[in-house]
Amino acid sequence: MTEISDIAPIEPRHIVRVVEGIPATDGAGVQLTRVIGQPALPMLDPFLLLDAFRSDRPQDYLAGFPPHPHRGFETVTYLLSGRMRHRDSTGHEGIIEPGGIQWMTAARGIVHSEMPEQENGLLEGFQLWVNLPAAHKMDPPAYQEYSVSRIPLELREGGVEVRVIAGSTSLHTVGPVVQPLTLPRYLDLKLPPGSRFREPSAPQHNAFVYVINGPLLIAGPAGSELQLQRDDLGIFSRGDEISLRAAEREARCLVVSGKPLNEPVARGGPFVMNTREELQQAYRDFEQKRF
Ligand code: MN
Repeated sequence: MTEISDIAPIEPRHIVRVVEGIPATDGAGVQLTRVIGQPALPMLDPFLLLDAFRSDRPQDYLAGFPPHPHRGFETVTYLLSGRMRHRDSTGHEGIIEPGGIQWMTAARGIVHSEMPEQENGLLEGFQLWVNLPAAHKMDPPAYQEYSVSRIPLELREGGVEVRVIAGSTSLHTVGPVVQPLTLPRYLDLKLPPGSRFREPSAPQHNAFVYVINGPLLIAGPAGSELQLQRDDLGIFSRGDEISLRAAEREARCLVVSGKPLNEPVARGGPFVMNTREELQQAYRDFEQKRF
């Protein structure tokens, strides 16, 4: 990690580590790839989990995620292909469609189901878990939901397309999702062959890139250049600029960053609190139907 002082010049971030996801099964039998929240990368504060799913085999996704609880954090679902229906214990219901985002602040608790709204075809997308600070884990639940038409598309030099889901860019495109507690920036980038994306980055935030279609060329340690492939997650060093480029093929990736909370994490299944006692309380509250 690089030390940044207040007067430091631009310090480009580089990739300190590349992580591959592991096959996992969750919900009632959904096949997915767990990228954050697995032994090689238990968390990247404030990000607790990243699941990637991409399958055109109904048996991989049809079982879905029947009713289950969450407490203490946010679940962020971003779909590239397919449709998901969600329904929760407060009566909230809706369908997430391609290009749409659901940013669910579970906070003190919600019980919901997330089920594919399709019987065949491709289902592709991500679920990211974003932690909440201790002082806000027991806030009321809330949603920020936006369809593809509400997500601004920034066009850059070289034909680079930037979909801004959360946070803002140096060209003043502002994503619809707002979360002042962790200041997340969630970008979906499409890069034509040979094009480059450069963007200032909050120096103290943790940041990662997830390659949807590669390869992607990004600075590595000691002046090297790494080639990240489809489904690689690259963890960025601290620094104040992100730069990456496509090779000879069109590339697509997520670039996500957020402010670390630096708080103790006690996690158990669908609950993420600060202490074991709070975790036990979450299980008791769920069993006693206090969600
Ligand atoms: Mn869920």
